[in-house]
Amino acid sequence: MENAIPQLCIVVPCYNEEEALPASAKVLGDLLYGMIKAGEVKRTSYICFVNDGSRDKTWECITWLMGQSSMFRGINLSRNFGHQGALLAGLFTARAEAYVSIDADLQDDEQKIRDMVRQYRDGMDIVYGCRDNRDTDTWFKRTTAEMFYKLRGKMGINTIPDHADYRLMSVRAVEALKQFGEVNLFIRGIIPMLGFPSGKVFYKRKAREQGESKYPLTKMLRLAWNGVVNFSDVPLVFCLVAGMAGGCISLLLMLWALYCWCSGSALPGWTSMLMVVCFFSSLQFIFIGIIGLYIGKVLRETKHRPVFIVQDDLTRG
Ligand code: UDP
Ligand code: MG
Repeated sequence: MENAIPQLCIVVPCYNEEEALPASAKVLGDLLYGMIKAGEVKRTSYICFVNDGSRDKTWECITWLMGQSSMFRGINLSRNFGHQGALLAGLFTARAEAYVSIDADLQDDEQKIRDMVRQYRDGMDIVYGCRDNRDTDTWFKRTTAEMFYKLRGKMGINTIPDHADYRLMSVRAVEALKQFGEVNLFIRGIIPMLGFPSGKVFYKRKAREQGESKYPLTKMLRLAWNGVVNFSDVPLVFCLVAGMAGGCISLLLMLWALYCWCSGSALPGWTSMLMVVCFFSSLQFIFIGIIGLYIGKVLRETKHRPVFIVQDDLTRG
C-alpha cells in the first residue's frame, strides 16, 4: 500500500543550541526546499524547532529564523524538560502527515530523510535511522551503549540496535504513541511496541561540530534506567530468584548446624541461633521478591499502556 506525498514536519529539539542552530537550520532548510522542489513532500512541509528551556539565545535564534522563512516554526517550552520531553512536545503539538525527529547538532545524516520519506511512500509508518558504526562516539559511550542494548535484549525488551531518536513516523503512528501515558520517558523503547509496517535506513554518525553534548553522564544514566525499568520486570524476578537461592543455601546451613549439634561440636545456643537467622532471612528475601512481582504488576497498570492499537478499521462499510 502506498502513502500519498506527505506534509512533512521535521522536529528538532534544541537545548542551548545557539552555536549549532544557524548552520543546522540552513542545512535542513536547503534539504527541505530541495525535497519540496522535487515533489517528494508537500509545499506546506516545515521544520519545527522545540526550545527546551534553553539558557542561551536559542529561542531568539528560532524566532529570527521564523522571520526569514515560513518553513521555520518554533515551540517554546516553559522550562527544560529534557530531550525526550522536548521531542514529544514537537510530535504532539505540530500538525503534519509525517514527522521526522532529528537532533539539532545534525550528527545524524540528514540526507537520509529523503530515503525515509521514500520508504514512507512505499507504505512504511515508521522508518528507523540506524548507525552503521559508532566511530565518532567516545570509547566510553560506545562500550556502555553496547552493553546497555545487549542487556535490554537479554531481558526480552524489543530494541532496534543502534537506533536513537532519529526516525520518521506517520501521523497514525504518532496518534498511537499518544495513547502511551508514560512520564518516565524512553521513547525509542515504546516505538517498537506500536507495531505498524516499519523500515530502516543506515547512516554513519558524524561528530558534533558546534557546541558540546547536552547529554552528560547523569542524564544518560537516567535515560538508561528508564530504558530498563519501564520495560522489564526481570530485575524484580531476579530478587525472587536470589531469595530462593538464598533459601536453599540457608537450608544447607541449617542441616550443617544440626549435624554439628548432633555430633556435639556446637557451642550451646549456636545451632538454634543460626537456624533462626537463616530461616527468617531467607523468608524475608523470598517475601520481598514476591512483593516485587506485585510492584511490577502495579507499575504496568499505572502506565495505562494501550492494550491494542488498530491499524486499519474496515467496520464502517
Ligand atoms: N536536548 C534537549 N534537551 C535536553 C538535552 C538535549 O532538547 O535537556 C537536545 C539537544 O539540543 C540535541 C538533542 O537533544 O538536539 C541531543 O542532544 P546531544 O546532541 O547533546 O546528545 P548526544 O548526541 O551527545 O547524545
Ligand atoms: Mg548530538
